[in-house]
Amino acid sequence: MIWADLAERVLGKDRRALARAISWVEDGQEGCLDLLRALYPHTGKAHIVGVTGSPGVGKSTMVDALAVLYRAAGSTLGIIAVDPTSPLTGGALLGDRIRMNRHGTDPGVFIRSLASRGRLGGLSRATGDVISLMEAFGLDVIVVETVGSGQAEVDIMRYAHTVVVITAPGLGDEIQVLKAGTMEIGDIFVVNKADRAGADRTVNEIRSLWKGHTQDGWVPPVYPVVARDGQGVQEVYQGVLDHRRYLVEEGGLAARVTRGLETQVREILEETVVDYMLGKAREQGLLQELLEEVAGRRLDPHGAVARLCDRYGWQRLKPD
Ligand code: GDP
Repeated sequence: MIWADLAERVLGKDRRALARAISWVEDGQEGCLDLLRALYPHTGKAHIVGVTGSPGVGKSTMVDALAVLYRAAGSTLGIIAVDPTSPLTGGALLGDRIRMNRHGTDPGVFIRSLASRGRLGGLSRATGDVISLMEAFGLDVIVVETVGSGQAEVDIMRYAHTVVVITAPGLGDEIQVLKAGTMEIGDIFVVNKADRAGADRTVNEIRSLWKGHTQDGWVPPVYPVVARDGQGVQEVYQGVLDHRRYLVEEGGLAARVTRGLETQVREILEETVVDYMLGKAREQGLLQELLEEVAGRRLDPHGAVARLCDRYGWQRLKPD
């Protein structure tokens, strides 16, 4: 199939075409840049919601429960489960299987996992592209769920307009969340597994951390939730809608959108430049040569990069 046909079918709300378009983008298939360019004018309308937290805190359970509420309100939903750890664990596939059981037959929900295949930068870039494809398809809300809470996840959350940070008591997770800088990016905090001891303390800890601070004027709410039983999920759902309304009414949405676009442009630039230089250097044997010099302490790593830049400077990135 050629990209123009595929674009047409994605815009015509053909689910199989969307699935195919995502695979094209993931695989870097020929024509995928034409496809993305053709669909781009049709993007920019969805509410992008990020959900992050360490493995096991209950993200999938929470997203499932939120999806039910969105569907009840008539909104269509895309769910992107981003799993940087999956080359080893197969985690993304597992997540897919669990969720498909619940929403698999619902044409208003589209679920896709993205695995790193060992490259975090590429994964973040792919996430931006998949969001665009889902927006062009016409989904109202796109939930980007990241497994883990490292720097890569924080980067991916920059695509979101509203970021939900999930933690759970008794995992020592509160500290992990703080370390990775996740606390700073949250608009809404969920203390899941509130059926367990220590939940109140965690809720209070997060509230006191935010005392006197706001997220661009928005005071991040902290909700105790038992996602497994649906307890407190309605409040989180309402909180997400309130935050969206706040962004629209107070004019903060544009800044969030720009933040996402800047991330996307940076990701693409890094991938383009780094891939180009390393690819060429490897192909022409220069990389090996430089690494040998560095290993022999005749050249330092900065010097190696300077040599790469000399050889493959920005002028050479232009198509010739
Ligand atoms: P994720 O890795 O963050 O996506 O976490 P999951 O949604 O897969 O949940 C991890 C485990 O926690 C599963 O066994 C869930 O059934 C369980 N779980 C989810 N929510 C709750 C909750 O509110 N209370 C308790 N006790 N367990 C929960």
